[in-house]
Amino acid sequence: MTKFVLTPLTPEEAEGRPSINTGVAMLGLGGNDYVCAHCGRVVIQGFNMDTTLPAMVYVCGVCGGHNGAPRKT
Ligand SMILES: [Zn+2]
Repeated sequence: MTKFVLTPLTPEEAEGRPSINTGVAMLGLGGNDYVCAHCGRVVIQGFNMDTTLPAMVYVCGVCGGHNGAPRKT
């Protein structure tokens, strides 16, 4: 399991893309943890983002910030 920091997006960048609100914490079926790029909270736990659309926008349920999938290095 790895902890990833999501990529911060502006509302303009997120516009027109599919989005999901994480709520206070979104639970997956196993995988990695993802940290909101804006408030630093773990908003998605046990999830594999490789299995979702790369364009998906994750709206933080804590601070309302828009996040994209972590950038691959
Ligand atoms: Zn946040």
